[in-house]
Amino acid sequence: MSSHPASPAVPFTGVVAVDGPSGSGKSTVSRRLATALGARYLDTGAMYRALTWAVLEAGVDPQDGKGVAAVLATAVIDLTTDPLAPGVSVDGQAVDAEIRGPEVTAAVSAVSAVPAVRAALVAQQREIIGDGGNTGAGGIVVEGRDIGSVVAPDAVLKVFLTASAEARAERRSAEVPGADVAATHADLIRRDTLDSTRKASPLLQAEDAVVLDSTALGIDEVVSRLLGLLAAGVRP
Ligand code: C5P
Repeated sequence: MSSHPASPAVPFTGVVAVDGPSGSGKSTVSRRLATALGARYLDTGAMYRALTWAVLEAGVDPQDGKGVAAVLATAVIDLTTDPLAPGVSVDGQAVDAEIRGPEVTAAVSAVSAVPAVRAALVAQQREIIGDGGNTGAGGIVVEGRDIGSVVAPDAVLKVFLTASAEARAERRSAEVPGADVAATHADLIRRDTLDSTRKASPLLQAEDAVVLDSTALGIDEVVSRLLGLLAAGVRP
């Protein structure tokens, strides 16, 4: 068990950006950090996944940029930002379980590489983030691939979380009953390559990000270090 404070005496304001590849521990770290800070939590990957679910439901080929843009134009993606109960819906339908399925996982990198998708979802993410809590909505921990570099370049703390491909594949396959580690490993490498090489806001380590490797440190230690950096007022 960790020894993180349940809630700080002074509410956290500002944005913490947590970027990194699939399975690096971003979600667990971000949710725990947000909980410890009494902050909101935004899973931007869930937004790309929700749109991908809508694309597949509509029978549109994820590689068809125009078809994807047409789904984007009408789909209403909504999120809750409670780190203890994150949820995502499309047109009012909760899709939390559906977006973690293999069909969505296989198609999400293609959908999220469409420039119109990035423009729309980045704008929605900035709207949710607001001014990072200075006007009352509360500070926020945001996880994704391009948060420190594109979505929230003024974040008070930028983290780039990594882990070995083996550790990431083991973590991801442990989350999905019956998943095969070798197949998960191959899928992670495929998505890393697509996410890192696309033209529009690729997975990028912001120059001023703190780089942490959760293979060596473990999730609890990563969260403790980030809380320590914030408490010490460290700015990137
Ligand atoms: O984080 P998660 O694995 O759920 O993200 C799913 C996919 O969404 C990623 O593989 C990536 O293609 C896309 N994504 C993105 N930009 C983000 C977050 C996720 O392109 N900020």
